[in-house]
Amino acid sequence: MNIPFLDLKRQYQPIKEEIDQAIHRVVDSQNFILGDEVRVFEEKLAQYCGVKHAIGVASGTDALLLSIKAHNISEDVITSPFTFFATAGSIYNAGANPQFADINPETFNIDPEDLVKKIRENDKIKAILPVHLYGQTAEMGPIHEIAEDHDLTVIEDAAQSIGAEYHGKKIGSINTTCFSFFPAKNLGCYGDGGIITTNEEEIAEKIRTLRVHGSKPKYYHHIIGHNSRLDALQAAILTVKLKYIDKWNSMRIKNAKLYNKKLKEIEGLKVPDIDPQNKHVFNQYTLRVTNDRRDDLKKFLTEKNISTAIYYPLPLHLQPCFSFLKYKLGDFINSEKACSEVLSIPIFPELEKEELKYIVDSILKFFDKSK
Ligand SMILES: *Cc1c(COP(=O)(O)O)cnc(C)c1O
Repeated sequence: MNIPFLDLKRQYQPIKEEIDQAIHRVVDSQNFILGDEVRVFEEKLAQYCGVKHAIGVASGTDALLLSIKAHNISEDVITSPFTFFATAGSIYNAGANPQFADINPETFNIDPEDLVKKIRENDKIKAILPVHLYGQTAEMGPIHEIAEDHDLTVIEDAAQSIGAEYHGKKIGSINTTCFSFFPAKNLGCYGDGGIITTNEEEIAEKIRTLRVHGSKPKYYHHIIGHNSRLDALQAAILTVKLKYIDKWNSMRIKNAKLYNKKLKEIEGLKVPDIDPQNKHVFNQYTLRVTNDRRDDLKKFLTEKNISTAIYYPLPLHLQPCFSFLKYKLGDFINSEKACSEVLSIPIFPELEKEELKYIVDSILKFFDKSK
Protein backbone atom coordinates (compact mmCIF):
# COMPACT_ATOMS: atom_id res chain seq x y z
CA MET A 1 0.00 0.00 0.00
CA ASN A 2 1.13 3.53 -0.78
CA ILE A 3 -0.54 6.23 1.28
CA PRO A 4 -0.19 9.89 0.31
CA PHE A 5 -0.27 12.58 2.97
CA LEU A 6 -3.13 14.27 1.13
CA ASP A 7 -4.94 13.27 -2.07
CA LEU A 8 -7.04 16.12 -3.45
CA LYS A 9 -7.99 14.15 -6.56
CA ARG A 10 -10.21 11.98 -4.40
CA GLN A 11 -12.06 15.09 -3.24
CA TYR A 12 -12.43 16.52 -6.76
CA GLN A 13 -13.75 13.37 -8.47
CA PRO A 14 -17.24 13.21 -6.88
CA ILE A 15 -17.88 16.98 -7.31
CA LYS A 16 -16.12 17.38 -10.66
CA GLU A 17 -19.26 18.26 -12.59
CA GLU A 18 -20.32 21.05 -10.21
CA ILE A 19 -16.81 22.47 -10.02
CA ASP A 20 -16.27 22.39 -13.78
CA GLN A 21 -19.59 24.16 -14.28
CA ALA A 22 -18.64 26.87 -11.81
CA ILE A 23 -15.30 27.41 -13.54
CA HIS A 24 -16.95 27.63 -16.94
CA ARG A 25 -19.53 30.09 -15.64
CA VAL A 26 -16.75 32.48 -14.67
CA VAL A 27 -14.79 31.94 -17.87
CA ASP A 28 -17.93 32.53 -19.96
CA SER A 29 -18.63 35.76 -18.06
CA GLN A 30 -15.01 36.95 -18.41
CA ASN A 31 -15.47 38.78 -15.09
CA PHE A 32 -12.43 37.75 -13.09
CA ILE A 33 -12.01 40.49 -10.49
CA LEU A 34 -14.46 40.79 -7.56
CA GLY A 35 -18.08 41.07 -8.80
CA ASP A 36 -20.96 38.72 -8.01
CA GLU A 37 -18.94 35.52 -7.61
CA VAL A 38 -16.88 37.01 -4.79
CA ARG A 39 -19.84 38.80 -3.21
CA VAL A 40 -21.95 35.62 -3.17
CA PHE A 41 -19.17 33.56 -1.62
CA GLU A 42 -18.46 36.24 0.99
CA GLU A 43 -22.13 36.25 2.00
CA LYS A 44 -22.29 32.47 2.24
CA LEU A 45 -19.07 32.26 4.23
CA ALA A 46 -20.26 35.01 6.62
CA GLN A 47 -23.49 33.11 7.11
CA TYR A 48 -21.57 29.88 7.72
CA CYS A 49 -19.43 31.53 10.41
CA GLY A 50 -22.31 33.48 11.93
CA VAL A 51 -20.63 36.85 11.43
CA LYS A 52 -21.66 40.15 9.82
CA HIS A 53 -18.89 40.60 7.25
CA ALA A 54 -16.50 38.46 5.24
CA ILE A 55 -13.95 40.02 2.88
CA GLY A 56 -12.16 37.81 0.36
CA VAL A 57 -8.44 38.42 -0.11
CA ALA A 58 -5.56 36.87 -2.04
CA SER A 59 -4.30 34.45 0.65
CA GLY A 60 -4.38 33.58 4.33
CA THR A 61 -1.13 35.48 4.70
CA ASP A 62 -2.74 38.63 3.24
CA ALA A 63 -5.77 38.10 5.49
CA LEU A 64 -3.39 38.47 8.46
CA LEU A 65 -1.52 41.39 6.91
CA LEU A 66 -4.67 43.38 6.05
CA SER A 67 -6.33 42.62 9.40
CA ILE A 68 -3.39 43.94 11.40
CA LYS A 69 -3.23 47.04 9.18
CA ALA A 70 -6.99 47.60 9.42
CA HIS A 71 -6.73 47.65 13.22
CA ASN A 72 -3.89 50.22 12.99
CA ILE A 73 -1.47 48.19 15.05
CA SER A 74 2.11 49.32 14.70
CA GLU A 75 3.67 48.28 18.00
CA ASP A 76 3.96 44.71 19.32
CA VAL A 77 1.67 41.79 18.52
CA ILE A 78 2.02 38.66 20.63
CA THR A 79 1.51 35.21 19.13
CA SER A 80 2.70 31.61 19.32
CA PRO A 81 6.20 30.67 18.15
CA PHE A 82 4.84 27.22 17.20
CA THR A 83 2.90 28.00 14.01
CA PHE A 84 3.37 28.45 10.29
CA PHE A 85 5.77 31.24 9.40
CA ALA A 86 3.07 33.51 7.94
CA THR A 87 1.60 34.27 11.37
CA ALA A 88 4.68 36.19 12.48
CA GLY A 89 5.82 37.20 8.98
CA SER A 90 2.55 39.08 8.47
CA ILE A 91 2.89 40.91 11.78
CA TYR A 92 6.26 42.21 10.66
CA ASN A 93 5.09 43.03 7.12
CA ALA A 94 2.12 44.97 8.53
CA GLY A 95 4.63 47.27 10.23
CA ALA A 96 4.28 45.77 13.72
CA ASN A 97 6.70 43.72 15.77
CA PRO A 98 6.16 40.02 16.51
CA GLN A 99 6.53 38.89 20.13
CA PHE A 100 5.94 35.38 21.47
CA ALA A 101 4.45 33.47 24.39
CA ASP A 102 5.00 29.74 24.80
CA ILE A 103 2.45 27.02 24.04
CA ASN A 104 0.52 24.66 26.27
CA PRO A 105 2.19 21.30 25.56
CA GLU A 106 -1.17 19.49 25.70
CA THR A 107 -2.88 21.52 22.96
CA PHE A 108 0.08 23.05 21.05
CA ASN A 109 -1.80 26.39 21.30
CA ILE A 110 -0.69 29.57 23.08
CA ASP A 111 -0.62 29.19 26.87
CA PRO A 112 -2.77 31.86 28.58
CA GLU A 113 -0.51 31.81 31.66
CA ASP A 114 2.62 32.61 29.71
CA LEU A 115 0.62 35.11 27.67
CA VAL A 116 -0.31 37.13 30.78
CA LYS A 117 3.26 37.01 31.99
CA LYS A 118 4.67 38.31 28.71
CA ILE A 119 2.02 41.03 28.43
CA ARG A 120 2.80 42.29 31.96
CA GLU A 121 6.47 42.55 31.02
CA ASN A 122 5.88 44.52 27.82
CA ASP A 123 3.55 47.50 27.55
CA LYS A 124 4.14 47.86 23.81
CA ILE A 125 1.96 44.82 23.16
CA LYS A 126 -1.26 46.07 21.54
CA ALA A 127 -2.76 42.88 20.16
CA ILE A 128 -2.97 39.14 20.77
CA LEU A 129 -2.89 36.89 17.72
CA PRO A 130 -3.93 33.38 18.80
CA VAL A 131 -3.55 30.56 16.27
CA HIS A 132 -6.00 27.67 16.20
CA LEU A 133 -3.35 25.12 15.35
CA TYR A 134 -4.10 21.87 13.50
CA GLY A 135 -7.86 22.65 13.65
CA GLN A 136 -8.08 22.89 17.43
CA THR A 137 -9.26 26.15 18.95
CA ALA A 138 -7.03 28.18 21.25
CA GLU A 139 -8.31 28.86 24.78
CA MET A 140 -10.44 31.84 23.79
CA GLY A 141 -12.17 32.30 27.18
CA PRO A 142 -8.97 33.12 29.07
CA ILE A 143 -7.58 34.98 26.03
CA HIS A 144 -10.60 37.29 25.93
CA GLU A 145 -10.26 37.98 29.67
CA ILE A 146 -6.60 38.89 29.25
CA ALA A 147 -7.40 41.11 26.26
CA GLU A 148 -10.09 42.91 28.23
CA ASP A 149 -7.89 43.40 31.31
CA HIS A 150 -5.09 44.91 29.23
CA ASP A 151 -7.21 46.65 26.59
CA LEU A 152 -5.78 44.64 23.69
CA THR A 153 -7.16 43.81 20.25
CA VAL A 154 -7.62 40.13 19.38
CA ILE A 155 -7.06 38.98 15.80
CA GLU A 156 -7.35 35.23 15.18
CA ASP A 157 -5.35 33.04 12.81
CA ALA A 158 -7.86 30.36 11.82
CA ALA A 159 -6.06 29.32 8.63
CA GLN A 160 -6.21 25.67 9.74
CA SER A 161 -9.57 25.78 11.47
CA ILE A 162 -12.59 26.61 9.37
CA GLY A 163 -15.68 25.10 11.02
CA ALA A 164 -14.00 24.70 14.42
CA GLU A 165 -15.95 25.72 17.53
CA TYR A 166 -14.99 26.98 20.97
CA HIS A 167 -17.63 26.34 23.64
CA GLY A 168 -20.33 26.04 20.98
CA LYS A 169 -19.35 29.20 19.07
CA LYS A 170 -17.89 29.02 15.57
CA ILE A 171 -14.43 30.37 15.10
CA GLY A 172 -14.68 33.56 13.05
CA SER A 173 -17.91 34.73 14.68
CA ILE A 174 -16.38 37.05 17.30
CA ASN A 175 -13.08 38.84 16.57
CA THR A 176 -11.47 39.78 13.29
CA THR A 177 -10.47 36.31 12.05
CA CYS A 178 -8.25 35.17 9.19
CA PHE A 179 -8.86 32.07 7.08
CA SER A 180 -6.80 30.49 4.31
CA PHE A 181 -8.01 28.58 1.26
CA PHE A 182 -4.58 27.17 0.41
CA PRO A 183 -5.35 23.80 -1.25
CA ALA A 184 -4.21 21.74 1.76
CA LYS A 185 -6.55 23.46 4.24
CA ASN A 186 -9.91 21.93 5.16
CA LEU A 187 -11.62 24.27 2.68
CA GLY A 188 -9.09 24.68 -0.11
CA CYS A 189 -9.38 26.48 -3.42
CA TYR A 190 -7.47 25.80 -6.65
CA GLY A 191 -4.61 28.19 -5.99
CA ASP A 192 -4.19 30.83 -3.29
CA GLY A 193 -7.04 32.51 -1.46
CA GLY A 194 -8.10 33.79 1.94
CA ILE A 195 -10.86 35.62 3.78
CA ILE A 196 -11.31 37.84 6.83
CA THR A 197 -14.42 37.79 9.00
CA THR A 198 -15.45 40.61 11.33
CA ASN A 199 -18.52 42.08 13.01
CA GLU A 200 -17.13 45.62 12.84
CA GLU A 201 -18.45 47.58 9.87
CA GLU A 202 -15.56 50.05 10.05
CA ILE A 203 -12.90 47.30 9.96
CA ALA A 204 -14.70 45.52 7.11
CA GLU A 205 -14.79 48.73 5.07
CA LYS A 206 -11.12 49.44 5.75
CA ILE A 207 -10.17 45.94 4.56
CA ARG A 208 -12.32 46.33 1.43
CA THR A 209 -10.37 49.52 0.72
CA LEU A 210 -6.97 48.03 1.60
CA ARG A 211 -7.45 45.13 -0.83
CA VAL A 212 -7.91 47.53 -3.77
CA HIS A 213 -4.76 49.63 -3.27
CA GLY A 214 -6.43 51.77 -0.60
CA SER A 215 -8.57 53.29 -3.32
CA LYS A 216 -11.84 54.96 -2.22
CA PRO A 217 -13.44 56.26 -4.35
CA LYS A 218 -11.64 54.69 -7.28
CA TYR A 219 -8.33 56.41 -8.09
CA TYR A 220 -8.38 58.44 -4.84
CA HIS A 221 -6.12 57.14 -2.08
CA HIS A 222 -6.29 58.21 1.56
CA ILE A 223 -4.37 55.11 2.59
CA ILE A 224 -1.70 53.02 0.89
CA GLY A 225 -3.16 49.60 0.22
CA HIS A 226 -2.42 46.37 -1.59
CA ASN A 227 -3.60 44.39 -4.57
CA SER A 228 -5.14 41.53 -2.63
CA ARG A 229 -8.44 40.16 -3.83
CA LEU A 230 -9.92 36.71 -3.83
CA ASP A 231 -10.16 35.68 -7.51
CA ALA A 232 -13.68 35.31 -8.93
CA LEU A 233 -12.66 31.85 -10.19
CA GLN A 234 -11.60 30.78 -6.70
CA ALA A 235 -14.78 32.24 -5.20
CA ALA A 236 -16.91 30.21 -7.63
CA ILE A 237 -15.03 27.02 -6.72
CA LEU A 238 -15.29 27.79 -3.00
CA THR A 239 -19.05 28.42 -3.24
CA VAL A 240 -19.40 24.83 -4.45
CA LYS A 241 -16.99 23.40 -1.88
CA LEU A 242 -18.46 25.27 1.11
CA LYS A 243 -21.56 23.02 0.86
CA TYR A 244 -19.39 20.04 1.76
CA ILE A 245 -17.18 21.47 4.50
CA ASP A 246 -19.17 20.10 7.44
CA LYS A 247 -19.26 16.65 5.87
CA TRP A 248 -15.51 16.70 5.16
CA ASN A 249 -14.75 17.98 8.66
CA SER A 250 -16.81 15.21 10.23
CA MET A 251 -14.94 12.60 8.16
CA ARG A 252 -11.65 14.02 9.48
CA ILE A 253 -13.01 13.87 13.04
CA LYS A 254 -14.10 10.27 12.51
CA ASN A 255 -10.62 9.32 11.29
CA ALA A 256 -9.06 11.08 14.27
CA LYS A 257 -11.29 9.27 16.75
CA LEU A 258 -10.34 5.94 15.22
CA TYR A 259 -6.64 6.78 15.47
CA ASN A 260 -7.07 7.95 19.07
CA LYS A 261 -8.84 4.74 20.02
CA LYS A 262 -6.22 2.50 18.45
CA LEU A 263 -3.10 4.44 19.43
CA LYS A 264 -3.84 5.94 22.84
CA GLU A 265 -2.37 3.10 24.91
CA ILE A 266 1.06 3.12 23.30
CA GLU A 267 3.83 4.17 25.61
CA GLY A 268 6.09 6.74 24.01
CA LEU A 269 3.25 8.15 21.93
CA LYS A 270 0.73 10.83 22.80
CA VAL A 271 -2.46 11.21 20.76
CA PRO A 272 -4.16 14.61 20.37
CA ASP A 273 -6.65 15.73 23.02
CA ILE A 274 -10.26 15.88 21.92
CA ASP A 275 -11.95 18.32 24.30
CA PRO A 276 -15.71 17.54 24.23
CA GLN A 277 -16.48 21.25 24.87
CA ASN A 278 -14.87 22.24 21.57
CA LYS A 279 -14.92 21.14 17.96
CA HIS A 280 -11.47 20.21 16.64
CA VAL A 281 -11.60 19.95 12.83
CA PHE A 282 -8.28 18.13 12.38
CA ASN A 283 -6.56 19.93 9.57
CA GLN A 284 -3.69 17.88 10.96
CA TYR A 285 -3.65 14.81 13.16
CA THR A 286 -0.46 15.30 15.09
CA LEU A 287 1.14 12.74 17.35
CA ARG A 288 3.77 13.50 19.93
CA VAL A 289 6.54 10.89 19.86
CA THR A 290 8.66 10.95 23.00
CA ASN A 291 12.03 9.36 23.92
CA ASP A 292 13.74 10.85 20.88
CA ARG A 293 12.05 8.37 18.56
CA ARG A 294 10.14 10.74 16.26
CA ASP A 295 12.61 10.63 13.40
CA ASP A 296 12.86 6.83 13.64
CA LEU A 297 9.08 6.47 13.45
CA LYS A 298 8.97 8.82 10.48
CA LYS A 299 11.65 6.79 8.70
CA PHE A 300 9.87 3.52 9.51
CA LEU A 301 6.57 4.82 8.09
CA THR A 302 8.34 6.14 4.98
CA GLU A 303 9.69 2.62 4.42
CA LYS A 304 6.09 1.37 4.69
CA ASN A 305 5.12 3.94 2.01
CA ILE A 306 3.15 6.07 4.43
CA SER A 307 3.72 9.81 3.99
CA THR A 308 4.01 11.90 7.13
CA ALA A 309 4.96 15.50 7.87
CA ILE A 310 6.55 17.62 10.58
CA TYR A 311 4.65 20.81 11.43
CA TYR A 312 6.92 22.52 12.41
CA PRO A 313 10.62 21.63 12.68
CA LEU A 314 11.92 25.02 13.91
CA PRO A 315 10.01 27.45 16.16
CA LEU A 316 9.65 31.01 14.92
CA HIS A 317 11.73 32.60 17.70
CA LEU A 318 14.74 30.65 16.41
CA GLN A 319 14.26 31.43 12.70
CA PRO A 320 17.31 33.26 11.36
CA CYS A 321 15.18 36.07 9.91
CA PHE A 322 13.91 36.94 13.40
CA SER A 323 17.32 37.08 15.06
CA PHE A 324 16.82 40.85 15.47
CA LEU A 325 14.16 40.04 18.09
CA LYS A 326 17.00 38.69 20.28
CA TYR A 327 15.29 35.49 21.35
CA LYS A 328 17.43 32.45 22.09
CA LEU A 329 17.24 28.69 22.52
CA GLY A 330 15.51 27.93 25.83
CA ASP A 331 13.15 30.93 25.71
CA PHE A 332 10.09 28.82 24.82
CA ILE A 333 10.86 25.29 25.91
CA ASN A 334 7.42 23.80 25.21
CA SER A 335 7.56 25.01 21.62
CA GLU A 336 11.13 23.83 21.17
CA LYS A 337 10.25 20.39 22.53
CA ALA A 338 7.17 20.14 20.31
CA CYS A 339 9.36 20.79 17.25
CA SER A 340 11.43 17.71 18.06
CA GLU A 341 8.48 15.44 18.93
CA VAL A 342 5.57 16.15 16.57
CA LEU A 343 4.61 13.94 13.67
CA SER A 344 1.51 14.44 11.55
CA ILE A 345 0.03 11.39 9.82
CA PRO A 346 -2.52 11.30 6.96
CA ILE A 347 -6.00 12.44 8.10
CA PHE A 348 -7.74 13.63 4.91
CA PRO A 349 -11.49 12.82 4.70
CA GLU A 350 -11.33 10.33 1.83
CA LEU A 351 -8.85 7.93 3.50
CA GLU A 352 -10.17 4.41 3.18
CA LYS A 353 -10.74 1.93 5.99
CA GLU A 354 -7.93 -0.34 4.79
CA GLU A 355 -5.56 2.59 4.59
CA LEU A 356 -6.38 3.69 8.15
CA LYS A 357 -5.89 0.13 9.33
CA TYR A 358 -2.56 -0.15 7.51
CA ILE A 359 -1.35 3.10 9.10
CA VAL A 360 -2.45 1.99 12.59
CA ASP A 361 -0.90 -1.46 12.16
CA SER A 362 2.36 0.01 10.94
CA ILE A 363 2.60 2.33 13.96
CA LEU A 364 1.79 -0.56 16.32
CA LYS A 365 4.48 -2.60 14.62
CA PHE A 366 7.05 0.14 15.16
CA PHE A 367 6.28 0.10 18.87
CA ASP A 368 6.33 -3.70 18.78
CA LYS A 369 2.68 -3.89 19.75
CA SER A 370 1.40 -5.91 16.80
CA LYS A 371 -0.80 -8.87 17.60
C1 LIG B 1 -1.63 28.22 5.88
C2 LIG B 1 -1.42 29.11 7.03
C3 LIG B 1 -1.28 30.51 6.87
C4 LIG B 1 -1.12 31.17 5.54
O1 LIG B 1 -2.11 30.93 4.60
P1 LIG B 1 -1.78 31.09 3.04
O2 LIG B 1 -3.13 31.03 2.42
O3 LIG B 1 -0.92 29.94 2.66
O4 LIG B 1 -1.12 32.38 2.82
C5 LIG B 1 -1.19 31.29 8.00
N1 LIG B 1 -1.22 30.76 9.23
C6 LIG B 1 -1.33 29.44 9.43
C7 LIG B 1 -1.38 28.91 10.82
C8 LIG B 1 -1.42 28.57 8.34
O5 LIG B 1 -1.51 27.25 8.54
